[in-house]
Amino acid sequence: MSQDTPQDTAQDTTPQAAPPVGPGATPPAAPAAPPITPHVTDHGGGVRGIKVPIPDNPLGHTLVHVLDTDRGPVLIDTGWDDPESWDTLVAGLDALGTAIADVHGVVITHHHPDHHGLSGRVREASGAWIAMHAADTEVVVRTRSAEPGTWLDYMSEKLAAAGAPAEHIAPLRAAGTLPRGVRHGRGPRLPGLRAAVPDREIVPGELLPLAGRRLRAIWTPGHTPGHVCLHLEERHPADLPGHGRLFSGDHLLPGISPHIGLYEDPSSELVTDPLGDYLDSLERIGRLDPAEVLPAHQHAFTDAPARVRELLRHHEERLTGLRELLAEPLTPWELAERMEWNRPWEQIPYGSRNIAVSEAEAHLRRLVKQGRAEAVPGSDPVTYRAL
Ligand SMILES: [Zn+2]
Ligand SMILES: [Zn+2]
Repeated sequence: MSQDTPQDTAQDTTPQAAPPVGPGATPPAAPAAPPITPHVTDHGGGVRGIKVPIPDNPLGHTLVHVLDTDRGPVLIDTGWDDPESWDTLVAGLDALGTAIADVHGVVITHHHPDHHGLSGRVREASGAWIAMHAADTEVVVRTRSAEPGTWLDYMSEKLAAAGAPAEHIAPLRAAGTLPRGVRHGRGPRLPGLRAAVPDREIVPGELLPLAGRRLRAIWTPGHTPGHVCLHLEERHPADLPGHGRLFSGDHLLPGISPHIGLYEDPSSELVTDPLGDYLDSLERIGRLDPAEVLPAHQHAFTDAPARVRELLRHHEERLTGLRELLAEPLTPWELAERMEWNRPWEQIPYGSRNIAVSEAEAHLRRLVKQGRAEAVPGSDPVTYRAL
């Protein structure tokens, strides 16, 4: 569903913005398969990349990285669960002189389907282990066991609390009252229901047990609660200045800013601050000063600290702009309507509006936490005003 995501005007697009499950999430049918010519890149020093397509998505592809170890290749992310994506991954490994059956392990930066989608198939084909941060594994497990009705009720209540108009919530309420089988049969297909449960945990700060390599997990929550970047603590093959290389997932990308919404968890009352988490995580990555960043979308780049500064500045400007909008009290929905997206609000499709409201709420949380805004006491649905 990320193709319809509203976007930051200061950026080009939003990488994988889908919540774990939700309405409007219908991946397209598989196209007839043309012969696959995989696009592979050798980054040197036993690191290669394969461009794995994301069907019908302006983001285009996930960059799956292949890290050679003494026990066989290890994949960093796998790609969207789609036949063409799978064929491209398999053909890519062939082109690199290895094979899917040789894959020894899979390290996942975060649970989104454009990263974790094919992990199950890779494990079936190779016997590889799958590693993920515990907080994202929790999302995977919760999503697999979620009753669609529970999720729809949760979404309906959340949207109502955010001030969404009744006509926006009505389709969710209607779907939520259908008998379970009917919901399954006629409702939207929810990505993540078949996602593989990882069998290893990525522990922040620790080296992954990879034979002959030094790959350290850096916890970078924000885009998801368990997002990790992976720091290859080895000399850069071209001796670029800086410290090793960083597989940055969706956390740090050269030309786009990842979607930061609320962490969706129907079972938790915890008031989290994902945007605060994200900004902290950005600073942490900037301090690492990697010689090169290998992100999961777009292309490899250098000067991570400059990119971090740019993103911090962008978010600060956005927060300042939103605070100005709160001169009059606004619900999260009203704030989302007034925020700048890549197209007018009227043209933003249904599912993407939910994501937009989530992003507005994440910004409100941050402003409240910074003491720059407050909830108006007694307002229902709750409105926020600048302080
Ligand atoms: Zn992504
Ligand atoms: Zn993502």
